[in-house]
Amino acid sequence: MTTSLQQFRETTRVWLEENCPSGARGPGFIPWGSSKIELKEDTRRWLQVMAEKGWTVPTWPTEYGGAALSKAEYLVVQEEMQKLGARPPLTGRGVNYIGPTILEFGTEEQKAMWLPRLARGEGGWCMGYSEPAAGSDLANLQMRDIDEGDHYRLNGMKIWTSDGMYGDLIFCLVRTDPDKPKHEGISLVLVDMDQPGVRVRPIQLISGDSPFCETFFEDAIAAKHDLIGPVNQGWAVGKRLLQYERSVHGGVNTSGAQVQAKEKSLPDIARHYIGIDKGRIADADFRERLLHLEMDTRAYKLTQRRVIAETQASAPALATSILKVKGAEFTKLRAELHQFALGSQGSGWRGDGFNEDELNATKAFLTTRAVSIYGGTSEIQKNIIAKRVLGLLD
Ligand SMILES: Cc1cc2nc3c(=O)[nH]c(=O)nc-3n(C[C@H](O)[C@H](O)[C@H](O)COP(=O)(O)OP(=O)(O)OC[C@H]3O[C@@H](n4cnc5c(N)ncnc54)[C@H](O)[C@@H]3O)c2cc1C
Repeated sequence: MTTSLQQFRETTRVWLEENCPSGARGPGFIPWGSSKIELKEDTRRWLQVMAEKGWTVPTWPTEYGGAALSKAEYLVVQEEMQKLGARPPLTGRGVNYIGPTILEFGTEEQKAMWLPRLARGEGGWCMGYSEPAAGSDLANLQMRDIDEGDHYRLNGMKIWTSDGMYGDLIFCLVRTDPDKPKHEGISLVLVDMDQPGVRVRPIQLISGDSPFCETFFEDAIAAKHDLIGPVNQGWAVGKRLLQYERSVHGGVNTSGAQVQAKEKSLPDIARHYIGIDKGRIADADFRERLLHLEMDTRAYKLTQRRVIAETQASAPALATSILKVKGAEFTKLRAELHQFALGSQGSGWRGDGFNEDELNATKAFLTTRAVSIYGGTSEIQKNIIAKRVLGLLD
């Protein structure tokens, strides 16, 4: 490591220690900008000081609210935050998906208008891509966007809108020309969710939770200047945004500060629940599966580092599909091994017979089933890899 990077690490460590409030350390809520979720004082303060320093979006240019950090400096900030247990000050679709997309495709006016707001966490963003008949076949989307001179009028429906009930703004892929071939009549537009023409209806899951919504657009209005990229060429812009999303799931997005999930030590859990035989976990098959997972995870982390170092933008392009597929596999396998190690204690839903960690493990297992679906399923990523990376025939 160069001396200047070592100095940067030292000043970063001291600054974080002095400025990260105790209530913003350890597990807890990470803001994503929603005006509908009240922040605790320490969390709000942490967001404010980090935004002032440009570290909510460390690699963005300073004129748009960033700190213009290099990739190496970005990683130092992430590592030092992790050592301190500092939570990311801001996360979500604003700083990680639509922000870098505006940075790449927006006009100067759009960048000046939106990026500083995004960096300060003013507004929680939702993603309006999927429709009932347009999931994997996203280009089949039907939501209409009609040019009415000084504004756009929107009619249609989106589904699986994560956090829809707390959203302030939504970026939508919409059909601006129904007469063109399906990939050529699409645009990406930003829409204010707090208007009479936008209605959300939570989708209640069997667990009782409603993590996502149906979102209805009934004569909703979008400003003319909020179309990102050229009209009818939104497919390319929308696909790039998906790469930013997948790069978050693949752990290689360097736009916002990323959430570093603290992994539980599976060997420790297994020793406790399965038991120890001659100093080793008392299940040879489990040991073997765990060993492979630990080796693969280490190799994956090294690959993430290499990809980050090699990528100019804040996310790579096609490599995101590879990293997303593998990341989803490892996440699911880790949750499965965790369940296996817990045995019958790993299938509790509620009740006195289970402690909090055991109940959380059940929830985590169920939650991880979705990682190979959201952001584009693993099957679709494999199609992309086959066609675009390996050049195989359609
Ligand atoms: C937790 C979660 C959060 C989400 N949040 C959002 C959000 O905020 N905003 C949003 O817009 N969307 C969101 N989604 C939707 C997500 O993007 C879609 O679920 C996903 O793209 C798949 O679409 P689908 O559900 O319509 O499945 P379908 O497209 O109907 O696919 C069904 C199955 O068929 C397979 N399949 C389909 N076509 C092919 C093919 N050509 N080749 C091989 N296999 C194929 C798929 O892989 C899948 O297994 C979310 C989904 C989840 C699970």
